[in-house]
Parts: sequence; structure tokens; C-alpha cells
Amino acid sequence: MGIFGKPKLATLLGRPLRCLVCGGREFWSREVKLNSTGAEFLGLSWANQSAVGLICDACGYVHEFAGPRPELWKPERGYPGGAE
Ligand SMILES: [Zn+2]
Repeated sequence: MGIFGKPKLATLLGRPLRCLVCGGREFWSREVKLNSTGAEFLGLSWANQSAVGLICDACGYVHEFAGPRPELWKPERGYPGGAE
């Protein structure tokens, strides 16, 4: 998955995001289309457009976000505001 440069650090609601599986800090992002069945299952009919998927660079686990968008940051510059 090296087509679009480098994986990025991510924060959600101002908090650094770590991979749920391996604890990795760098992710690739992609848009994910939600189908209506999935949105209704999650009680998120308002979110029946798209979500953001963050794919762990280390293990490949896909984290999906249908609410607030995660923010992405360049790894070499670190998290904003000194978050860790
Ligand atoms: Zn991972």
C-alpha cells in the first residue's frame, strides 16, 4: 500500500489513535461506502453516506469511523499540541 506516500498518525476528538490490535500509530486512510443495511444495523441511518477507514500500517486492521472524522498528521511532525 505505498501508492499515496506514507502512512499517517491519526487523532480522533483530539486523542491519538492506536491500532486496536497491535497498538500501531500509523494508518492509511480510505473512504468507505456504507450500505443501508449496515447503517441501520448500527443505528446510524443518518450516516448512510460514507465512512472513513483507517488501515493499520503494521497489521492491516481496518478501523471504520462513521461519525467524527479522524484527523491525519505527518509522522515526522508528531501529534499536534504535544498529545501522546
Ligand atoms: Zn495494527
